[in-house]
Order: sequence, then structure tokens, then C-alpha cells
Amino acid sequence: PIDLTPSALPAVSGAAVPSYDRAVVRLGIVHFGVGGFHRAHQAAYVDRLLESGPDAAGWGICGVGLRPADAAMRDALVPQSGLYTLTLKHPDGVVETSVIGAIVDYLYAPDDPEAVIERLAAPETRIVSLTITEGGYNFSATTGDFDAENPDVRHDLEPGAAPRTVFGYVTEALRRRRDRGLAAFTVMSCDNIEGNGHVARRTVTAFARLADPELAEWISEHVRFPNSMVDRITPATPDGLRAEVAARAGVDDRWPVVAEPFTQWVLEDAFGAGRPRFEDAGVQVVDDVAPYELMKLRLLNAGHQALGHFARLLGYEYVHDAAADPDVRELLRRYMQEEGRPTLRAVPGIDLDDYIDTLLERFSNPAIADTVARLCQDASDRIPKWLVPVIVARLDDGAAAPLAAAVVAAWTRGCEGFDDAGAPITLNDREAEALARRALGSRTELLAFVAVPDLFGDLAERPGFSEPYLATLAALREKGARVVLRDLLAR
Ligand code: NAD
Repeated sequence: PIDLTPSALPAVSGAAVPSYDRAVVRLGIVHFGVGGFHRAHQAAYVDRLLESGPDAAGWGICGVGLRPADAAMRDALVPQSGLYTLTLKHPDGVVETSVIGAIVDYLYAPDDPEAVIERLAAPETRIVSLTITEGGYNFSATTGDFDAENPDVRHDLEPGAAPRTVFGYVTEALRRRRDRGLAAFTVMSCDNIEGNGHVARRTVTAFARLADPELAEWISEHVRFPNSMVDRITPATPDGLRAEVAARAGVDDRWPVVAEPFTQWVLEDAFGAGRPRFEDAGVQVVDDVAPYELMKLRLLNAGHQALGHFARLLGYEYVHDAAADPDVRELLRRYMQEEGRPTLRAVPGIDLDDYIDTLLERFSNPAIADTVARLCQDASDRIPKWLVPVIVARLDDGAAAPLAAAVVAAWTRGCEGFDDAGAPITLNDREAEALARRALGSRTELLAFVAVPDLFGDLAERPGFSEPYLATLAALREKGARVVLRDLLAR
């Protein structure tokens, strides 16, 4: 195979290549956190925009990496002039590879912090986007407050320090823009957190307040922070992908990306300095992201819980194998249709039957090789955020939620530490010890696992929940998950 560079593109045969002229693409977006997800999602949308015509040529992306681990991304992307391959794996075995051309420059910040600040302060930079992980926002999960004691944050607050955090870079660049009479850029978070735009606004202004209260005022007034819902399952690049792409496309890509074909991006239309016509690339640009976010949390994310805890008791390792088990699949489908879905408001432009069918198909994709253990990890964060609100909404409506209650029972049963075949279950959860203690305790004190207001509110006191929960938990212990599923689904 030949090395992936602009001059190699005419020789590429087994992959789509950019048909637009990359030489005329100008920078409009600076992105922090060029990992797998950005390259499979936002950069692929911008690539499609650039394909749609010359109007989009002002929206090329400059990637920025802040962390030592990002030196590897620099070493992959810089010799390739920002080019890389994205491989989509369909459930039926079809594989599509494309060369993505939307990232036209990459800066590894520790090499030259000043260059990054000036790039952010440049008049043509109109959007600064982020996929810096949940942890990158540096706020406390319990209080929601910005952590001013973080050592990198303290360093960035020293006058004249070369920044280390996103907050240091963004704030210094906004100071220069204000002083130069330039418009503020928009800060667009694409991380998987509820209300990501609100979180970005809160954390950036909290940092700015510590650095310079007057600048913080200017930022509150001038910087927009759109919310978004982003979705495309993108695992870490597996070992064999580079050789696979070389064999298929005839090019050697130093760091290829693999993802599922499904992709969705719902974006709040809140931009202060212009935006590309994202809708031309399939982005749903809306006034209010909240209904979409709720749909994703209560169907996709809570659906993962519905599948995961029963699959673990049945001994499944992979999500796609569990999703092919007729009983597990039926539980998942009926949870989504009968309990998750009725709690949603209408979601504009989305047919929920199609959305649910698509989720079943996505969870069944063997090429993605997602694990049951990954779904079950940190359930003490996830069940309360994703599934408990569904149960509460159903009970408040005078309706029942026996399947969601059964999922909580299956979680309880799994926390006892062994599956139905007696194989050990390792709890990967920061509350692991307390969960195990309460699960075992619930053999004598029946409601011990759920009488925890931090996790379950007052559900333990509501018979609409506690009765089906206790019945299912007792049956799981007595008869095992297989029989319980069949009994539940026969109703
Ligand atoms: P990744 O590990 O491939 O890349 C993470 C990137 O974030 C790296 O560039 C890293 O340097 C940067 N980063 C991490 N901590 C940071 C910090 N404190 N400050 C600045 N940059 C930091 O991961 P990924 O798969 O690209 O996922 C990144 C994020 O994208 C997720 O945390 C999630 O919020 C969102 N997301 C991912 C998926 C997915 O399926 N992978 C789906 C939806 C949303």
C-alpha cells in the first residue's frame, strides 16, 4: 500500500475520496479533542458539507490536541495533511471506507501554545467545538460546581502562563478577540452529557470569572453555547483495522477510524458568528434539543440497561449475541415500546417506531463487538439517570412499569456477584461495595437494595414499583432469568 497523503488520492481505489479541492478550503472551526468520535461524527458531517459545494469552503477544521496522548494523533495526521479513513461496518457485513478531508490542519498545543491561541483569535475562526470527554469539563458530579482546585486550572490562572486546559485557551483567545474588536466565536460542545451547551457555558464562564471578572461579563454577553445530541457508536480503533484498510483501499493510514453506519446529530440553532448550513449534511438543526435528548436517554441508553442486566445473568459476553436471543430482544423491544416510549413527548421529525427498530438493529451489529460488561458498568450512575425517571413518569401517570422494575431486579440479582450458571460477576462501579452489600441484604430485608433515596428517590415506598420488583427478584432467585423472562413476556 502507498502512504495516505493528498498526492496518493488518485491512486486510491477501494475507498471514496474527497472530490472537492482541499487547497481552497479555509479554516472556520477549531476543534479540541480529535479522537475517534470527532473523526467519525462531526468531521464526517463537515466532509459531506464540503462535498455539497463551494459555499462550505470556509468551514474547514483545525484540530487541536492538549494532552500528551495527543502527540500520537499529531504524528498520524500531520504527515497525512489531516487525511484519514473512516470505515463503516453494517450489520449485514457490508463495509464502506471513505477518506475524510475536513481536517485541514492539526496543532498539538504543547508544541506551540501561542500558535493555538492565535488560531482561536483569528478573525476567520467562528466556531470552537469540543469532544473533550465528560471529565474534560472539570465539574463535580454531586454539586455541579467548577473545580478551581484542579492543578491544571490553577496553573492556567497564573498571569501569563501558557495554558494547559481548554478553559485557559478559550478564555485567553476571547480576551484577544474582545481587545481587537473581533466578534466572539461560538463554543459548540459535542460531548455526551445532558445539556452539554449549558455545561460548557457554566464551566467556561466559571473559569473566566476566576481569571478576570470583566472578561467573564463580556463572555456571558457575547458567546453562544448551543446544546446538541450526538450519536454514533464509535469504538476505539481495533488492532487489525490498519491492515484491513490497507488491503481494501490500497493505502496505509496511520490511524484509521471504525464506526457503525447510523449517525445522528441534533443541534440547537444558537450561533453568534454564523455557522455552515449543517442541515445540508443531514444535521437536524432545531430550537430545542431536549425532546431528542430524552428520546436517546430513555430508549437507547435505558434500553442498553434493559438488555445488559438480563444478558449478564444469562452469561452473555457480547451485546450483539444477547440482542439475538429472542427473549432478551423481546424484553428490550417491549420495554422501549410499552414503557420508555409513552413517557416521551412527540419528537419533531422522528418516527419513534423507526427509531426503536433501528436501535434493535444497531444493538445487533456484530462488527461493532460492544460488550455486556461495558453496558453494565457504572450502573449506579446510569440506572438513576436513565431508567428511574421512566418508572417515576409511568407511576405518576397512573400506569405500570413491570419491565423496567424487572430490570432493576435483574441489576439487584447481578450485584449478588454471580450469574445464573454460578459464574462470578465483577462489579465495575464506584459504588460496587455498597451495591453488593445491599443486594445480599435484600434476601432478608426485602427492599434493602432500592430503599436508597439517592439512587431511587421514593420508589421503594410506591407499591406500583415495589410489588413487581419484589416478585421478579424472588422469581429470579428461584427460577433464573430465562424462566422469568418467558413468564414476563407471556403476559
Ligand atoms: P477518544 O479517547 O478517542 O478521544 C478523546 C479526546 O478527548 C482525545 O483527543 C483526548 O485528548 C481529549 N481529552 C480527554 N480529556 C481531555 C481534557 N481533560 N481536556 C481536553 N481534551 C481532553 O474518545 P472518543 O471516542 O472520541 O470520545 C470522546 C467523547 O465523545 C466522549 O467522551 C463522549 O462525550 C463523546 N461521544 C463519544 C461516542 C462514542 O461512541 N465514542 C458517542 C457519542 C459521544
